[in-house]
Amino acid sequence: MNIVRDKKIIAYKNRQTKKFAFNLRRLISEAVMYEWSRLGDKQKNKSTVEYINIENKRNDLYKTLDASICLCPGCNQTDKDMYYNATAEVWFCTQCVQEYRDFYIKEFSKNEKDLFYESFL
Ligand SMILES: [Zn+2]
Repeated sequence: MNIVRDKKIIAYKNRQTKKFAFNLRRLISEAVMYEWSRLGDKQKNKSTVEYINIENKRNDLYKTLDASICLCPGCNQTDKDMYYNATAEVWFCTQCVQEYRDFYIKEFSKNEKDLFYESFL
């Protein structure tokens, strides 16, 4: 893992745009999780091969949602300003980013490295 410094923050200034974007993120997240659950129900009483194929689809859905701007993988919120972590290739909310930064500064000495937490600096 190499640190990639490509900082992007999505923060809506207009109240109506923000409300629309957050509602859209919530709807997409709920639709994905509904499909994820539906596929889980389909796994019951399936052969091992069918079960694994469905599980792979569920994993793809979950990973895609987790990496999207729709929801923060740190807190699962859909109504936050978002920050793109190019190293992890994942969007996090700005609140979680600050918590990861604070944790890194508090927990790691100058000699210790943790690339995941360092990628938020
Ligand atoms: Zn968060």
